[in-house]
Amino acid sequence: MPKFEKLHNPSHGEVIKYQNGKPIIPNNPIVPFIRGDGTGVDIWPATQLVIDASIQKSYGDEKKINWFKVYAGDEACDLYGTYNYLPNDTIEAIKHFGVAIKGPLTTPVGGGIRSLNVALRQIFDLYSCVRPCKYYSGTPSPHKSPQDLDIIVYRENTEDIYMGIEWEAEDENCINLINYLNNKLIPNSTKIKNRLLPKGAGIGIKPVSKFGSQRHIKKAIEHAKRLSGDKRHVTLVHKGNIMKFTEGAFRDWGYELAVNEYRNDCVTERESWILDNIENNNEISVENNAKLIEPGFNKLNPSNRNSICEEIKNVIMKISDSHGNNKWKKLVLVDDRIADSIFQQIQTRPQEYSILATLNLNGDYLSDAAAAIVGGLGMAPGANIGDKAAIFEATHGTAPKHAGLNKINPGSVILSGVMMLEYFGWNEAANLITKGLSRSIEQKKVTYDLARLMEPIVKPLSCSEFAESIINNF
Ligand code: NAP
Repeated sequence: MPKFEKLHNPSHGEVIKYQNGKPIIPNNPIVPFIRGDGTGVDIWPATQLVIDASIQKSYGDEKKINWFKVYAGDEACDLYGTYNYLPNDTIEAIKHFGVAIKGPLTTPVGGGIRSLNVALRQIFDLYSCVRPCKYYSGTPSPHKSPQDLDIIVYRENTEDIYMGIEWEAEDENCINLINYLNNKLIPNSTKIKNRLLPKGAGIGIKPVSKFGSQRHIKKAIEHAKRLSGDKRHVTLVHKGNIMKFTEGAFRDWGYELAVNEYRNDCVTERESWILDNIENNNEISVENNAKLIEPGFNKLNPSNRNSICEEIKNVIMKISDSHGNNKWKKLVLVDDRIADSIFQQIQTRPQEYSILATLNLNGDYLSDAAAAIVGGLGMAPGANIGDKAAIFEATHGTAPKHAGLNKINPGSVILSGVMMLEYFGWNEAANLITKGLSRSIEQKKVTYDLARLMEPIVKPLSCSEFAESIINNF
């Protein structure tokens, strides 16, 4: 047990431990929770009520979460002193107990204080951010067929421009860096030597590593393996046509993982197309082939018939036994899409997608865009997962103007609780909550944000009434 400065060790419950990156969940785990700033005061009590009720109804006294209050954000400053937004006690508690859940936290603007959410992800190396976007029947949506969208965004959480390695324009280090790049590195790089950085530019660094990309894409593939039918599908999202050695490399490393480490579990889109055509005795022509998106790991020139034949020979020799005879149809399909096109595709052909594995910034944009289709931020949960810890959290902020009014939609944190229960393998309790939530929305028993979009407009429930309605609908 860690020695806390201001917290008292919980008297009941057991610690969640990790073995090979997987949690071992006792029947009575201790789970630290951060109430959150702003609307956290309303959302957290509602969430705890719903989670506890679902466990009690599903397992009686056999299972129970022992909640352990820890502090971050404004509440932490009140207890630990000014500017102590993320006390050591909180870090030690999450490290020791392994799983935590949190409400939204304020990011103080200016004063050199980092985002607490980003800090927590980096401290615990929570390298995959998981954001499911699924429609609950009856939720008002700007989309015509929101029920067709059922995706999970796997957003890389530790690299990319989110590392915050950047220099302000005119900062001395920035000027030195620009001079060094313009005078030395760029002229020495044959492919880019005619391009020079504009004087007076700010500079941001975008690191993307093979290790970081593959450990994250692995989590996405492992998740897809647990799904069935067409949902066994991972799409690598990237802007590799422009940023070849960061975004393009992310795609290439993803395919490399799929055809090496996950060879028996995965088929690429290109392989599936070749196998499909062979099994249907179709002629595989250059014209057909040009329709495919070219995976980066196989630099095939579509106009070269010989190299195409070579690739087909390779597929037949290497995987026709293991993947042929329609066996590939049961495997995880791995394909890739350019980031801007996937924004269109989740609107126009949402049913074709399942798990979208993305880099950090693309995933941030994409998950909010997908959340908008299914009913907005109030219904969008999130989880940050690493090999030794996991933190479940709302994707929205503190919405300060609604704080303390018992008005806000607690759906996002409640659904994050559902993700936590699924992470525990407590699926009965998780299903009970989604059932209660769906029914409540169908009965138009919702908070203001959804009520105002319903036609005709309905009288909203308060935050706590919405939680009670979910429980009554178990
Ligand atoms: P915000 O807190 O997400 O609120 C923006 C608007 O979104 C609200 O005014 C409200 O719209 C709607 N909204 C947010 N949460 C909702 C919920 N649970 N139910 C229904 N509607 C909800 O964004 P912000 O005002 O830009 O940020 C405020 C603070 O939160 C900042 O300090 C920011 O850094 C922080 N933040 C934290 C997190 C996090 O902890 N993960 C994430 C994002 C931002 P209406 O008023 O129109 O109803």
